[in-house]
Amino acid sequence: LRQHGAKVTLLPGPEGDRSNLFATIGPADVPGYILSGHMDVVPAGEPQWSSPPFALRREGERLYGRGTTDMKGFLAAALAAVSKLAGLRLTKPVHFAFSYDEEIGCRGVPHLIARLPELCAKPLGVIVGEPSGMRAV
Ligand SMILES: [Zn+2]
Repeated sequence: LRQHGAKVTLLPGPEGDRSNLFATIGPADVPGYILSGHMDVVPAGEPQWSSPPFALRREGERLYGRGTTDMKGFLAAALAAVSKLAGLRLTKPVHFAFSYDEEIGCRGVPHLIARLPELCAKPLGVIVGEPSGMRAV
């Protein structure tokens, strides 16, 4: 993000060992859109895993493995768009709001939301890349 000129802010949580990330491409003082997702993944030691979580397994059109679906695809897609976004003369900003500890009770995002007023103008909207039955909601 910094390589492409984004303004990047790390927002450490009270735990002291993890942070949210907020970044902006374009003018931060006018309303824009936020691309949001959480960076943590479900625990790998849970008994519900039907196959080794660190081994990618394909079954039909689906891929199984830790982080294959939940948000990590969205985060990768959002970050892959950074260079193109940075090359545009955006009149409204695109923000990236990546939070921590969603899987253990959304513990990170409240800290991020609390800091939004100092990070950007009130956003026009937020796109959350959470898969919801693999449908847009
Ligand atoms: Zn999720």
